[in-house]
Amino acid sequence: MSGNRDTPEALGVVIASDAQGIELALSQARATLDAGEVPVGAVLADAQGRVIATGCNAPVAAHDPTAHAEIQALRAAAAQRGNYRLDGCTLYVTLEPCAMCAGAILHARLARVVYGARDPKAGAAGSVLDVLGDARLNHQTTVTSGVLAQPCGALLRDFFRPRRVNLDPLREDALRTPDAAFAPFVDTPAWPWPPCYVANLPALAGLRLHYIDTGPADAPLIWLLLHDGAAWGWQFRHFIALLAAGHRVVAPDLIGFGRSDKPKREDAHSFVWHRQALCELIERLDLRRVVLAGCGLGARLAQTVPLAMGGASEERYRGLLMLNAQPGCAPDAKNLRAGSAYAAPFPDAGHRAALRAAPRLWQESESLLCAAHTFWRDAPLLTETADLESPEQMRALAECALRHFAPTDAPATPTEHDPSH
Ligand SMILES: [Zn+2]
Repeated sequence: MSGNRDTPEALGVVIASDAQGIELALSQARATLDAGEVPVGAVLADAQGRVIATGCNAPVAAHDPTAHAEIQALRAAAAQRGNYRLDGCTLYVTLEPCAMCAGAILHARLARVVYGARDPKAGAAGSVLDVLGDARLNHQTTVTSGVLAQPCGALLRDFFRPRRVNLDPLREDALRTPDAAFAPFVDTPAWPWPPCYVANLPALAGLRLHYIDTGPADAPLIWLLLHDGAAWGWQFRHFIALLAAGHRVVAPDLIGFGRSDKPKREDAHSFVWHRQALCELIERLDLRRVVLAGCGLGARLAQTVPLAMGGASEERYRGLLMLNAQPGCAPDAKNLRAGSAYAAPFPDAGHRAALRAAPRLWQESESLLCAAHTFWRDAPLLTETADLESPEQMRALAECALRHFAPTDAPATPTEHDPSH
């Protein structure tokens, strides 16, 4: 039960000073770090100063709220002695004992406790309570505090620091699908593109949006691919592989879908909010020479994104590719079958608010289409119906789209500079 498996060298050592005892306890504490336990360690010495037991904090691994370092050491020593009374012994522990441990220390009749860092929130050896020194109880234990307090406290502060400065906080009103759900699909030959995340766009208000961004930065075109109302970027995997050979491709997962955060409430979603988040992503990545390409609900977003971006839109966009954009964007039950990449983002009903909202978002887009038609009237436009799961159909689509949208200023066809005109 004790931590002596990790650092057997402490057992049998004869402690000559309090600092040496705390140093041994510190090495026990450090041994817990790899296990993710709060780093607290203890050693127990007999009346002659010889270490007879050690303990590491282990409540997480042991599923045991009593598995504090002190308790671990007391149990090991009592088992070894065949006696719960440990008269004359001294416990060295890196952190001031809590009320539970202080109680156990009294029951074990320890002569002395030496600890390192104070615990101003839960300490029961003088900081919050003084269980060990309370004259109303039938036994008291001598306490020496603050021995190597600095390294003992620093170890704890270092342990908690990365948690307090969480770079990827999850909003309380949202869920995040565990990465493990996507493991069979991403980081594979089918999806080799590394994930990118952004959470500090104004529209996102801390929600984390996932996207991929692949291909050369100075590519002639940037393709922004927007998935439909039951899918995620995965839907475009065949298409991306073909385009990214020479062009840059950015494929976000809309909030609520794929690897992006998922608000728990259906009414968190609105069409113009999704559109605003995309506008902010486009500006953040400074995407220019963009072909907006969308499927289903994504096609509606692609169609209407420039309307929200003001006057500079015309020069930013090179065309619009609309796939399967006919009315009807209800989640496709066939695609969402268990075990498929399309079911992966939605391990339970709580994750599916965006799926439930998708038909409404489609309705909300209707009122914007008239202005969108006006915007795109003279721009390159391609409307296709295609099976995105078919590599052959995607190859044909990519060839067609590249012909349709590719810049016409290639040196091989200098028509504009034809001297005969
Ligand atoms: Zn404790």
